[in-house]
Amino acid sequence: MECRKDENISECTCSATKCGNRGICCECVRHHREAGEIPGCFFPKWAELKHNRSIEYFVEVYSKTQKTL
Ligand code: SF4
Repeated sequence: MECRKDENISECTCSATKCGNRGICCECVRHHREAGEIPGCFFPKWAELKHNRSIEYFVEVYSKTQKTL
């Protein structure tokens, strides 16, 4: 299967535009999984901008703000 990097980049909601993993979703997921984190695109925009990719923050965001997502 061919990497769809260009298509992935056009849809990526991560604000870290200089990240080398941008558009290479398998590398992005691997990087954050190994760090015990979740990729930026899983967070709503306002939360993604804080660059806190921790699982704890993810749970906090989704447990407190479900109505505003
Ligand atoms: S979520 Fe992390 S690895 Fe993925 S593009 Fe953003 S900064 Fe890079």
